[in-house]
Amino acid sequence: MKNYSVKVVDDFSAAHFIPEITEGLHGHNFKVVVKVFGNLNENFMVLDFRDIETVLGEICSEMDHKIIVPKKSKNITLKTKEESIDLVLSDKRYRFPKKDVVLLPIESNTTELIAFYIHSRLKEKIKGKIKVTVTEKENYSAGIVG
Ligand SMILES: [Zn+2]
Repeated sequence: MKNYSVKVVDDFSAAHFIPEITEGLHGHNFKVVVKVFGNLNENFMVLDFRDIETVLGEICSEMDHKIIVPKKSKNITLKTKEESIDLVLSDKRYRFPKKDVVLLPIESNTTELIAFYIHSRLKEKIKGKIKVTVTEKENYSAGIVG
């Protein structure tokens, strides 16, 4: 039995801050590399690249040009209003238009947990072992496999 893998890359640009290290709001052009491992199917593929591309594209485009906020953070107080979202983080208060914000079901906005979030979304649609690597800049990336 051979171990094959296929790889699909996508990206998104988003603003975030990491509440635990009281970073200021800043942005990255996040690159997302997804590898799916497995055996060949009847078409001699692990998976059709386009199937991964579709799912990954959906996830990335939801976060593209948005402010991503970890809604399970213990360090952020969130108030959702009709048109806006207010965030309180120690002595800082932010108000963003609701449509510019994506609330992610994670505890923090680290690259590791962004990878975890993307990985868990992919696992809903794609079977097999998946590796997700998120790069926030050339020398900094984090990943999860499983
Ligand atoms: Zn950052």
